[in-house]
Amino acid sequence: MSKYLATIGLEVHAELSTETKMFCRSKNDPDEKRPNVNVCPVCVGHPGTLPVINKKAVEYVLKFGLAVHGELADFTEFDRKNYFYPDIPKGYQISQYKYPLVKGGELSGVRLTRVHLEEDTGTSIHDRGDYGLVDYNRAGVPLMELVTEPVITSAVEAGVFARELQLLLRYLKISEANMEKGEMRVEANISVRPEGQSEFGTKVEVKNLNSFRSVERSIEFEIERQIELLESGKEVVQETRGFDENKQVTFSQRKKESAHDYRYFPDPDLPKLKISEIPEFSEDVLRKSIPELPVEKRERYKKDFGLDGSKIEMFISNQNFADLLELSAKHLDGNEIKIAVNYITSDVAGLAKDGTNTNPSGFAFSPKQFATLISMYSSNKISSRGVKDILAVMYKDGGEPEKIAEDKGLIQQNDEGAIIAVVSEVLKENESVVNEYKEGKESSLKFLIGQGMKKSKGSANPSLLQELLIKEISKR
Ligand code: ADP
Ligand code: MG
Repeated sequence: MSKYLATIGLEVHAELSTETKMFCRSKNDPDEKRPNVNVCPVCVGHPGTLPVINKKAVEYVLKFGLAVHGELADFTEFDRKNYFYPDIPKGYQISQYKYPLVKGGELSGVRLTRVHLEEDTGTSIHDRGDYGLVDYNRAGVPLMELVTEPVITSAVEAGVFARELQLLLRYLKISEANMEKGEMRVEANISVRPEGQSEFGTKVEVKNLNSFRSVERSIEFEIERQIELLESGKEVVQETRGFDENKQVTFSQRKKESAHDYRYFPDPDLPKLKISEIPEFSEDVLRKSIPELPVEKRERYKKDFGLDGSKIEMFISNQNFADLLELSAKHLDGNEIKIAVNYITSDVAGLAKDGTNTNPSGFAFSPKQFATLISMYSSNKISSRGVKDILAVMYKDGGEPEKIAEDKGLIQQNDEGAIIAVVSEVLKENESVVNEYKEGKESSLKFLIGQGMKKSKGSANPSLLQELLIKEISKR
């Protein structure tokens, strides 16, 4: 297998989360379930209607361009891409051809060719019977299209890129980018060539990939399929393939007869844009609206919290966790911050998975209360078991950790005198076990600690209990 090199280029469409559609005032609502309600004469292509450019959509793509360090167009225009399909009500799609809003740029080590703005199509429905239906709610929704250079060399790399792109779209708040909802759609172009051959092999385009997993799996499958073809002396045909989720295989959809002729030409109904003449589109203004981006946040978390690997990604992809850590860290020392990180990435994340948190913008408890909980643990007021129990209550109902600890009898006993009293009782009641321990049976100590914890109703500081048990036994 290592005799072949794979080349992958991605084309990604992202629905922009503007209030209204690309060229009219119809609502842009991907969650609308009723068909054909967010429509007007413009987006269903009635003759005589005129499109008007959605300024926000242009702004979103320019922001994206800045974030990926691309070159923003100064002059740009919209073109008609002519083809007939029931979900294209005008008989053409308004897109950009010669003058994309953004050229070049880079994301996650992958060079970008261009990023442009167009309108989405409607949705055709073919599974109801002997007829077809069309829903135009999506027709005219602003769509950002991004094309990468053919520089990706593996399925894993493609997956990393696609995930990073989703993260960036969300950080910039320009697209929800849910792949399952079709808000982000990936097409993968894949070719293989023998090692040592400089020109690329014939590419195949795989469409309709609606999860990251499908992106990765379809690329793996295609690379293998194409290598097998070449190995058996056959040729790869340039074609469009689909991906079968159930069988996890790609299948031929249509062969590329010849290059499509879309007869692109500038849309005469729309004005050309001179970006530098529009104050809201000046780089300085746009830059101000760009928040801290994932790459920068990773660096900061590495530096400030000493984090990396999968832990850092939990904070990068979950704003609630990040806010909790950053705001509670203000009340904690370095060691306590490490403890806080562990409790957020294990326990809080676990609770979040159970879905009991109904507040999407935060938690039932404040970062300050969480910090107090962590400090109680680090100062031995409560055990690690106690943290879990208190956190479960705080997560569900909120509340002060000290009060919950007292109510639930979770304040740890650190008073030596009180623990020694417990130790003496345990030793008296378990003489045979004590003897076993003295004869070298290590596990007996665990039993004795267990008895002590029980006797103290779970309140004894376990490490202090253990220390005092060993000390008292050695005296005997
Ligand atoms: P087309 O004219 O078929 O649309 P483009 O040159 O516009 O092809 O490229 C479309 C996508 O395919 C881009 O993402 C590009 O990086 C990728 N691509 C181009 N050639 C190859 C190749 N030989 N192997 C893999 N990907 C390729
Ligand atoms: Mg192309």
